[in-house]
Amino acid sequence: MDFKAFGWQGIELKIPQDWELSEETGSYKQGFIRFDDTADPRLRISWRVLDKYKGKDPAHEALERTKKEIEKKDKGVRFIRETKLKISDHPSRYVHWRGSGERSLVEGCGLFWHCPETKRGFASVFAFRTDEYWNLRLAIQRVVRTISCHSNGPRLWTAFGLNMNIPQDFHLLERQYDLKCLHLLFSSAYGYFMIDRYNFGRSLKKEDRDLTDWFERNCKKKIERLFKCSQWGKIKKAHFNDHEGFLIQAFSKRTVLQRTKSMSESRVWHCEDKDKIYVVTTVRELEGHSETEDNLDAILRSVVCHE
Ligand SMILES: [Zn+2]
Ligand SMILES: [Zn+2]
Repeated sequence: MDFKAFGWQGIELKIPQDWELSEETGSYKQGFIRFDDTADPRLRISWRVLDKYKGKDPAHEALERTKKEIEKKDKGVRFIRETKLKISDHPSRYVHWRGSGERSLVEGCGLFWHCPETKRGFASVFAFRTDEYWNLRLAIQRVVRTISCHSNGPRLWTAFGLNMNIPQDFHLLERQYDLKCLHLLFSSAYGYFMIDRYNFGRSLKKEDRDLTDWFERNCKKKIERLFKCSQWGKIKKAHFNDHEGFLIQAFSKRTVLQRTKSMSESRVWHCEDKDKIYVVTTVRELEGHSETEDNLDAILRSVVCHE
């Protein structure tokens, strides 16, 4: 079974190739992700900052709470194995249960741990049918071994085939997923990073003469509104990931509230290999630090549109 790297809100792990992110909510402090394979939900991970935590063993408490919830729904459930494991160097509690019903996903296992580095408590729950367990067992073990809940470097963010490495001081401000477009906006104290990836690039471009017309009609207003930019620079031809595209800058007016001018830079290209149009925008203060530029450049370099 092939595996792929996945990252979201500071959690990184390897998942089987046919598992996809099917739901995500919340933030770094409290959130939830779910992965499905082609047939069923397979893994749920939730987390939350335990600010006022004073208990002895948060993992044990979470385990007991979850067992009670499962018993409430299924009186005949059996807990067939309980043990301690290490997740990302943290002690963790593991439980495997078998439901009594005839429903499709009656078996599961859960892992609970506390990450002192990020002050977050984690719960992850795998779901499967009894007859699937022996096939899935090794995959689950591998997923568990690869879970990482803290790191010092940039964080991996994965969304529908897109991987990015983003410094820790950026947080996810906006996200939108639909058939036409994937939109992610990250913000930090010193700048923004935004990626808009449009599906069906060829048919989108057809309505307009070329990519610059398409950008004018579809993206300019959004960038002006989000980043208060109004003065547009000239279009410059550029190459991104082997594709010919263009770079365009826009500047904000200096206002009473904004002490310094800021500049947005959008890189626009059509990835013919995957038929997607990318609009990747960074925003920083014009008189900002060179470190800001380095950080934003590092994110840009991590965006790969095709292998
Ligand atoms: Zn951790
Ligand atoms: Zn490409």
